[in-house]
Amino acid sequence: MKKYLKTLIILTLIVAATFSFSQTLVQIKQRGKLLVGTEPTFPPFEFVDESNQIVGFDLDIANELAKRLGVKVEVVSLPFDSLIPALQQGKVDMVIAGMTITEDRAKVVDFSKPYFEANQAIVVRKDGNFRPQSLEELIGKKIAVQLGTTGDLIATDVKGIEVVRFQRFTDAFLELQNGRVDAVVLDEAPAKAYVKKFPKFILSKVVDTGETYGVAVRKGNKELLNFVNQTLDIMRASGTYNKIIDKWFE
Ligand code: GLN
Repeated sequence: MKKYLKTLIILTLIVAATFSFSQTLVQIKQRGKLLVGTEPTFPPFEFVDESNQIVGFDLDIANELAKRLGVKVEVVSLPFDSLIPALQQGKVDMVIAGMTITEDRAKVVDFSKPYFEANQAIVVRKDGNFRPQSLEELIGKKIAVQLGTTGDLIATDVKGIEVVRFQRFTDAFLELQNGRVDAVVLDEAPAKAYVKKFPKFILSKVVDTGETYGVAVRKGNKELLNFVNQTLDIMRASGTYNKIIDKWFE
């Protein structure tokens, strides 16, 4: 009898775990909040505005997802390289962080369909005369990147570039401003946003990397993934996608 009871309890637990895992949308609705992980030094996708709010293109996507679920977005602000671990540990429901869909990342998380196309860019000080036109021209130089980004990966791949890694792009640019590094390598749209905000920097070269951004959910979380993909489709079809493009890009 005892043995059966034990088996029954174990079975119940397994069923409950399986059920709760596939019921993410229900959980989010019950909680009343969609937990979105992001790193907020990545304008115009996510950044802190004058009223200390995290806003941007990605947040508008998050808000659209939340709206369709009848819940609010709660932003969980983390260093970029902590976003995937936080997702895996269940601390966030999804990551929306201008995150490039890469083979390695796709082994540990599931990505939505692409929602934005991106390349890398090399940013330097305007007052100097260093205007690199390729990654190779950074050999022998010191450059700043954000830890764990594709910019970090491509720069680290080129032997002879001294790569200094920061958690926040704001710190990487401070380093460039102070002359402690020769360049910052980051995604093109944020590069343009920083250059626009700080005219002492200049975009020296766009490096064609052909990246695309995706929303990341936990591996195997089909229900949530389908919901995200469906919402992205609806946003494109209804013109909402173009509206937020126009809002954040001129
Ligand atoms: N797109 C780049 C990456 O995925 C940078 C993203 C970011 O810094 N938020 O690595």
